[in-house]
Amino acid sequence: MKKIALLGATGSIGVCVLEVARTHPEEYRIVALSAGRNGELLLDQIQAFRPEAVAVLNESVAAGITSRLPANKAPEVFFGVEGFVRLATLEGVDTVVSAMTGAAGLIPTYEAIRAGKNIALANKETMVMAGPLVMTEARNRGVTILPIDSEHSAILQSLRGHRREDIKRVILTASGGPFRDLPLDRMHDITAAQALRHPNWQMGPKITIDSATLMNKGLEVIEARWLFDLEMDQIDILIHPQSILHSMVEYRDGSVIGQMGIPDMTIPIAYALAYPRHLSNSLPRLDLEKIGDLSFQKPDMERFRCLKLALQAAATGGSMPAVLNGANEIAVDAFLRGMIGFLDIPALIEKTMDAHVPSPVESIEAVMAADRWARDTALKFLDGKIQDRTPSG
Ligand code: MG
Repeated sequence: MKKIALLGATGSIGVCVLEVARTHPEEYRIVALSAGRNGELLLDQIQAFRPEAVAVLNESVAAGITSRLPANKAPEVFFGVEGFVRLATLEGVDTVVSAMTGAAGLIPTYEAIRAGKNIALANKETMVMAGPLVMTEARNRGVTILPIDSEHSAILQSLRGHRREDIKRVILTASGGPFRDLPLDRMHDITAAQALRHPNWQMGPKITIDSATLMNKGLEVIEARWLFDLEMDQIDILIHPQSILHSMVEYRDGSVIGQMGIPDMTIPIAYALAYPRHLSNSLPRLDLEKIGDLSFQKPDMERFRCLKLALQAAATGGSMPAVLNGANEIAVDAFLRGMIGFLDIPALIEKTMDAHVPSPVESIEAVMAADRWARDTALKFLDGKIQDRTPSG
């Protein structure tokens, strides 16, 4: 039986992980759960899964949880980064599911690897910010990192049974999001509510906006590069609006191996947990006859500047991908709050990247410093922008 610490239990991935664990109780025991602010849902999850320990964002959320737990048989409650690290390194846990949102997932995931835990990775920011450090640490500790991201799960499945040296390239597919065919001059007016309606996938707000800007695909290219030890010029992107073919590997004889399935995160999540087995589920089957056509097109880097910026940051390397990510998190948050427009997201990221002098990152501390610098700088630019818009007098 696998003993799991689930970081990010109340997000869309976390909820799905628990559903897989509930369906296969003979396979998985949930030892620890972490959440941010969603104490209500976490309390329900504690009751259903009886973990030994939980961790939440801060002391006040922790106090709220503790006051509503029964006196006996209650889990230990921790909070903050230290609390998340505590869960990630808990004795008796063999697999850590890293499904927190954003850069906050990096430190707990890295510490889990240092503690020798295998990782099921949904937090792509860990790879974007610190890919080389994370992969080196994983190799040194004999730790396996299995992707939960659907594209990377597809690549993993397409690599099995083939020789690394035969790989020509990897092709990541992208749905293109809700604004795939929207002309640039109509993209100014996109609202958060429109951007939050993804045509194919049910996901949390941050990644849904990243999918609408195609930043998500840029982050996934960087994730794939480190996870599968590829060169940047070995990774291509194709827009595939139906989200059925989740990614492909092309081999040197021209064979292209891909993985298809309905767009439901249950499939890659269960594969990461049960690897290399495929668990049964009660999802609707893929009905290609009903879908009819699968189509593909090149992404438009001018309308989706976030993708271009991500590829630039990856080419620059060092601290730049962490800066890209930090600035993006600030920009997406500001967009969701209605403070900036849709096209201001790439503008703010680009301004922050332009102001950054990249340096090599040889430690997690250096990565976190680049992340902090990016956030501070983006917030300063944001402040100026908001003030520019405020009528004087
Ligand atoms: Mg994905």
